[in-house]
Amino acid sequence: SKALVWLRRDLRMEDHAALYHALKRHQQVYVAFVFDSDILDALSDKHDRRLEFIWESVTELKLALQAAGGDLLVRHGRAQTEIPRLAQQLQVAAVYANRDYEPLAIARDEQVAQALLGEERTLHLFKDQVLFEQDEILTQTGKPYGVFTPYKRAHLAKLNAFYLKAYPVQRYLSNLAAMPAAAMPSLESLGFSRTNLKSLRLPTGMAGAQQLFHDFLQRIEDYEQARNYPAIKGVSYLSVHLRFGTISIRQLAQAAWQLSLAGNAGAATWLSELIWRDFYFQVCYHRPDLQLERRAYRPEYEQLPFANDRDWFAAWCEGRTGFPIVDAAMRQLNQTGYMHNRLRMVVASFLVKDLLIDWRWGEQYFADKLIDFDFAANNGGWQWAASTGCDAQPYFRIFNPQSQSEKFDAQGKFIRKYVPELAALDNQLIHAPWAGTPGKKHQLPSMPEVDYPLPLVNHALQREQALALYKNNVKQK
Ligand code: FAD
Repeated sequence: SKALVWLRRDLRMEDHAALYHALKRHQQVYVAFVFDSDILDALSDKHDRRLEFIWESVTELKLALQAAGGDLLVRHGRAQTEIPRLAQQLQVAAVYANRDYEPLAIARDEQVAQALLGEERTLHLFKDQVLFEQDEILTQTGKPYGVFTPYKRAHLAKLNAFYLKAYPVQRYLSNLAAMPAAAMPSLESLGFSRTNLKSLRLPTGMAGAQQLFHDFLQRIEDYEQARNYPAIKGVSYLSVHLRFGTISIRQLAQAAWQLSLAGNAGAATWLSELIWRDFYFQVCYHRPDLQLERRAYRPEYEQLPFANDRDWFAAWCEGRTGFPIVDAAMRQLNQTGYMHNRLRMVVASFLVKDLLIDWRWGEQYFADKLIDFDFAANNGGWQWAASTGCDAQPYFRIFNPQSQSEKFDAQGKFIRKYVPELAALDNQLIHAPWAGTPGKKHQLPSMPEVDYPLPLVNHALQREQALALYKNNVKQK
């Protein structure tokens, strides 16, 4: 019989649950990807690195499927229309896909399933993008965890070789349906143009993911120490690949788990980060209101009267707050679509607790700009920084941008790269240029005026304001 595999955020051929199950059960298996117009039309900037990343990865996958005797059918339109139509044209018995945990995606999948059912076809969904999904890790009373540490403990207790085993897709590839090579839409025909992606040294597709992972494995032991320093190559840079599934989470976790059992502390910490990813997916699944109604995770933090100054927000977005570490981070985001995790925490805390701007504004800006944007992790990260989330830090713990800068970019290397106008400052002044010439434009002894803004706010004063804002407006449970 025939089947159709519908790829979404799983752009690979190896260790792929839906592809494996379809190939194992059916003799003629088609594979399709839809550039979903509901998603594409919502993107206002038509220079979007994500689109280019996906386009490159889809192109690579199409060639790989062709080499294996099949092809990838690529469509542009609403998934709710395109998938049932393809299923009808190809006369398949069923459609296979990997499960998504975002409420909006779940609603889309339900619509597709309904349309298919009208023609007596079933949509089969599989766990693939996480190690443990929705209801696999619950508290003793059968509830989803709202706090990370006990969740992680339960996760690690359950994790074993069975859950990490790869799906042996290769064994069944002869069941790919042979067909004449189908066309691939160009990026331009989708309404998008090339970005600076190629200059970013961010390799795309399955090959790019394997290359990055291989590189990371050489230094995973140092992860624990190196991961906090944005000027050091300490992290894996795999987030965009996990976002689009060009690499399997099982492959990554399997390696990290084995190394960590052998006493590799870096691997153990990295595995913990992968568990954070699972954690936020399950939070997102169990709290659809976070996405659908933009709610705070903790209802008592729903009504915080943020000042929401538009000029300050624009300065934050553009990297001209006068706080070098914040500005360097925002410029990294704008220029590359990536931001180091330590800096995501710093700029998020700064937006909410120094500029007193609603975390949702920052969350949205990240959603527009991050190449690895993922609703679950992004919302989790923002609500953590705003102290409105699960496992929240208490609201009175507020990052000091200057000391974060001194601690995590001590030599000012990262700042010098993204705020080159400050490059000549010494290792002390670079974290707080205002300290050299209070009240005046920055003036250096041997240099003309530096064209860099004075700090937008006084951290100590804003901190007091933030504390008062939270203290006076958090509703008692
Ligand atoms: P590594 O340090 O190598 O970590 C490996 C993988 O673990 C990451 O690729 C990611 O999949 C996962 N991971 C690590 N930290 C977290 C975390 N805190 N939450 C969930 N998963 C994690 N991550 C995203 O993937 N998409 C987002 O949209 C996103 N938005 C964020 C917003 C804020 C305000 C904050 C504080 C964090 C956000 N993160 C997000 C989490 C984290 O910053 C990135 O996953 C990480 O910086 C990606 O770089 P890496 O792949 O080199 O990470």
